[in-house]
Amino acid sequence: MSPDCVFCKIVKGEIPSHKVHEDAATFAFLDIHPLARGHTLVVPKRHAARLQDVDPKSLGPLFAAVHALTPRVCKAVKAPAATIAINDGRESGQEVPHLHVHIVPRTAGDGAGPIHALFPKRPTVKPDEFAPLAEQVRQAIPPAP
Ligand code: AMP
Repeated sequence: MSPDCVFCKIVKGEIPSHKVHEDAATFAFLDIHPLARGHTLVVPKRHAARLQDVDPKSLGPLFAAVHALTPRVCKAVKAPAATIAINDGRESGQEVPHLHVHIVPRTAGDGAGPIHALFPKRPTVKPDEFAPLAEQVRQAIPPAP
């Protein structure tokens, strides 16, 4: 737990939330500023700011909860689809530095578009640049555990 973290406080019950699920490792609650009805956040109980900060073994329970909750959330608000997203790091738009998965119910005509719509300034990657880029990624030093 991190003493100043708003999501740790929600997990501990020190800040109220509209809980939709809890298990040994995971807590899920409605987003207070929903992008759609039923917008749900799924968080690991153990504090970690970002995806790379958690033990990969703990991602099983987190994504199992996302897997179980997504159809329930969608059914509850009669949405046929969902956008499932993590803002990983400040520059990506992460405002709360406690890893969380957004489950945002989606409906035709909700006006949001695909995640591709987030990127109006897309780079042009020429066909012969893909192979060296892939090699750069393969060679990149993995982050320290
Ligand atoms: P992100 O930008 O990915 O860090 O998203 C953080 C999300 O947390 C936002 O969608 C906020 O609306 C939501 N949020 C912040 N504080 C609370 C809270 N006390 N209860 C529920 N949701 C919250």
